[in-house]
Amino acid sequence: MTSSSLPVIDVDQTSSTTTASAAESSALLGTYTRPSVPMVRGNGVRLYDANEKSYLDFVSGIAVNAFGYNDAGVNGAIADALKTGLIHTSNLYKTLPVEELARFLVDKSFAASAFFCNSGAEANEGVFKIARKLGRSVSAEKTDIVSFRGAFHGRLFATLAATDRPTYQAPFLPLTPGVRTIEREVSDLGAELNADRTAAVIIEPIQGEGGLRVIDPVMLQELRAITAERKITLIFDEIQCGLGRTGAFFAYEKTGVVPDAVTLAKPLAGGLPMGAILLNQQLTNIIKPGEHGTTFGGGPFVASVALHVVKRLAEPAFLNRVSQDGAWFGEQLNKIASGNARVRAVRGMGYMWGMDIVERASSVIERAYNAGLLILSAGDYTLRILPPLVMTREEMQEGLDILAEVLQ
Ligand SMILES: *Cc1c(COP(=O)(O)O)cnc(C)c1O
Repeated sequence: MTSSSLPVIDVDQTSSTTTASAAESSALLGTYTRPSVPMVRGNGVRLYDANEKSYLDFVSGIAVNAFGYNDAGVNGAIADALKTGLIHTSNLYKTLPVEELARFLVDKSFAASAFFCNSGAEANEGVFKIARKLGRSVSAEKTDIVSFRGAFHGRLFATLAATDRPTYQAPFLPLTPGVRTIEREVSDLGAELNADRTAAVIIEPIQGEGGLRVIDPVMLQELRAITAERKITLIFDEIQCGLGRTGAFFAYEKTGVVPDAVTLAKPLAGGLPMGAILLNQQLTNIIKPGEHGTTFGGGPFVASVALHVVKRLAEPAFLNRVSQDGAWFGEQLNKIASGNARVRAVRGMGYMWGMDIVERASSVIERAYNAGLLILSAGDYTLRILPPLVMTREEMQEGLDILAEVLQ
């Protein structure tokens, strides 16, 4: 796929008139603490604020902006999609981009079907319902959904119940019943996963927000063996680690394990909201018309953009470069760590890395922000680094230099 002939929008550099006043008082619900100066434009791997200060991006809009900002190909796909006049038709009617996107994802994977929705949490909620229906077809008690220590699966009632964060859960109890978290130890799996009661297990092959941990492939293999034997649906939540971020199109390809269902979202539609569930044949067969649905999910406009995104992300040359540059990036992070007593560990793969530090992540994030580098946390003492997948080694080095400095 070539993108050189597609337009790069000339982002207006002068229209930041609304910004100063917007910064002072906000009518937004206070669900996030944000810096006071608004971001006004983006280009490549950089964001620019209302004071024209630039920031190198190690966040990617939380693993969403795989191609960075103002990408010619994504802009072109958006422009082309608008030409059909079809932003939305509802799921009552067939549309071509949605059919083609489902076909592409099914052909690339173990799956027999795809379901599209609007977000990651919605994808996980949907797959919980489908796996529960399959469990209940075996016995009325086979309904439990099990997740793991350190998991993050979303902030709706069932996905929050599967998320291992008591502080996120406590204000909103009671959550969905029949959802619980267990330890990641291989030795615990046999006792915890009950053939009569457990419908599904959900795991991130690389845990993201809950602490950036690459799950041991041996544990995943054991989990696959037990779930297959006990007819438990094995769900991989690849919302953050999937779609190229590990250097493979699906993260499960790096594990040697094939799950029964995969959930996707973050980078899927180039920054437009979209989630997906990929289902094996058995899960596909269990759902009948009318049993699950969504008004907006998987409309023709977002699907057209997603089709452009997944075709580019699946290109072997693209994935090879992510693997190689990602491995190089990990080496550089380890170099920073080895000379610095304030860094305790480095973990990750591809363009997804975590760094355990001895001070609060929030203070390093603030110093990096002041120095023009955007980074994330994964828990209180872990930095999380998710560069756009198009970031070059030279650009990475620029960010690494800032990171090394703010870690001194
Ligand atoms: C972000 C994320 C979710 C939730 O996605 P939303 O689009 O924010 O609902 C679920 N699982 C994982 C692994 C995520 O990283």
